[in-house]
Amino acid sequence: MADERRIQQFRQMAEADPENELGHFSLGKAYLEAGRFTEAIASLERALALNPRMSKAYQLLAEAYHEAGEGNRAIDVATRGVAAADKQGDRMPRDAMVELLQSWGAPVPAFVAAAPPAAAEGDTSAPGFRCARCGRPSGQLPKPPFKGALGEKVFAHTCSICWREWIGMGTKVINELGLQLASKAGQDAYDQYMGEFLQLDQL
Ligand SMILES: [Zn+2]
Repeated sequence: MADERRIQQFRQMAEADPENELGHFSLGKAYLEAGRFTEAIASLERALALNPRMSKAYQLLAEAYHEAGEGNRAIDVATRGVAAADKQGDRMPRDAMVELLQSWGAPVPAFVAAAPPAAAEGDTSAPGFRCARCGRPSGQLPKPPFKGALGEKVFAHTCSICWREWIGMGTKVINELGLQLASKAGQDAYDQYMGEFLQLDQL
């Protein structure tokens, strides 16, 4: 079962480097998608403890609590998540959590709604560009960073700041998991982590 294989992979990553929030985050997300809510909650709580600025982790944790029947906790997490995401300028998870709170009939906290970062001079982003990970409407890469469908997807949906962050994280992933990029399995695993990190997997 595909879910189970992904869970094994991410569990391996979380165990190989327990201080790396990405492993716990990805594992929590995989558990949530597999309907294993109690385990999702534990992994996402761990990811947030390591990095309280992970806006998307609040969103998934709130969903996991809701699905697990812990409505008050879900509302508490989403309420804190809206504030954290807004502070970070992470619009997409913020707006998703506002929608969650509304759908649960819970009050939506006031947030600052910081103005979108101004496009830098000479910004070449396509009209309507928005980074899938951070929500920035600017900073598109000048061209696809590598060939193929995934390279095109990165180009269409990833800002240069998030791309640079992935390069650093990707190196860690390769080292920690001992991925062999020359093999198809290694390349597939690497692509999957990239998609998770850049939040391209649900597009
Ligand atoms: Zn970005």
